[in-house]
Amino acid sequence: MPSPLPSLTGVPPDRFEALAEELGEKRFVGRNLVRWVFQRRATTFDAMTDLSRGLRERLAARFVVRGSRVVADRADPGGTRAFVVELADGKTIETVLIPEEERRTVCVSTQVGCPVACVFCASGLDGLLRNLTAGEIVEQVLHVQDRLEGGEPVSNVVVMGIGEPTMNLVNLSQALATWNDPRGLGIGARRITVSTVGYPLRVDRLAALGKEFGLAISLHAPRQDLRAQLVPNAGKVPLEEVLAAARRYFDATGRRVTFEYVLIGGLNASPREARELAQLLRGFPCHVNLIPVNPVDGLPYVRPAPDEIERFKAIVLDAGIDATVRWPRGDGIAAACGQLRLHIERDREQDRERDRERGAGGAAATTRRA
Ligand code: SAH
Repeated sequence: MPSPLPSLTGVPPDRFEALAEELGEKRFVGRNLVRWVFQRRATTFDAMTDLSRGLRERLAARFVVRGSRVVADRADPGGTRAFVVELADGKTIETVLIPEEERRTVCVSTQVGCPVACVFCASGLDGLLRNLTAGEIVEQVLHVQDRLEGGEPVSNVVVMGIGEPTMNLVNLSQALATWNDPRGLGIGARRITVSTVGYPLRVDRLAALGKEFGLAISLHAPRQDLRAQLVPNAGKVPLEEVLAAARRYFDATGRRVTFEYVLIGGLNASPREARELAQLLRGFPCHVNLIPVNPVDGLPYVRPAPDEIERFKAIVLDAGIDATVRWPRGDGIAAACGQLRLHIERDREQDRERDRERGAGGAAATTRRA
């Protein structure tokens, strides 16, 4: 059953003092409560031992602490861990922890499914089911922080999981503010990056938040026709307009924009595209992430040969554009790019089918007996 109550993780940290007052308490109680939710990471009201029993009861009548929980996780030898998070209505999303030397980066989802339907991506296969609430977006980082042994803090957040973040901007903005707020998780804006296919007006609205969040734009093609083929839903936006929005973002925030380019053998990875990309981005204050495609079950897309990848990168670098090859993380555990969730969902569907069959068998047996 979906919980009918909203979660405290969906209350903005700057609203807790007012909330305490509404509940007949002093403002300082609100400061205590916000600490329990985001810093001490209580998951039940009972755990908030220094709040009066009466207050805990009044809170429990109006809220749950969190609205989601981790139901599965998988780790790969490289240290990447993928978590399947179940929401109050039973739907699932995926959150990934990527530990690197000094960083512990969490990759979060913003929607259940995705409306963009990039042809090579597992997340859009069933379209968009729904937006995540602000609390559901925020909580993903809390779930991962709960599981970091030694208590090292999550240092970075990348909004690169399932969904198109800019299609859920109101809830995303609140989540960004909560992560960033010192009363929330206190993660610096420069350590949080939002990845988008780059709808210009939506990029402008991100810039208008007035914070130095990082911006990554999924480009994937240097030509309009090719982009329309790979990113059908966003391919209608002229590339010049995508680039102009990226430029405005740089002007407003001072942050160099990252362009993501998934390399797919036989489609967008030849020297021709490399030259066109170099031409397109020459002089642009950016960084290019070249991502060899992570093959998805049932989809025909393959990685280019290693020398083709190197050649592509060399051409871009020769044009004076900063570029690195980034291998998708967690491909050993089917975690890269929303795929663990798909596997788990498939397993669950099989379980349900088995249950239905058993149920039907039982009913048939009863009928026969009758
Ligand atoms: N919708 C947003 C954010 C989620 S996707 C966006 O498009 O940016 C995050 C990144 O993962 C995007 O660059 C996307 O193109 C990439 N991605 C999706 N499926 C992939 C796959 N199978 N292999 C490699 N990268 C993939």
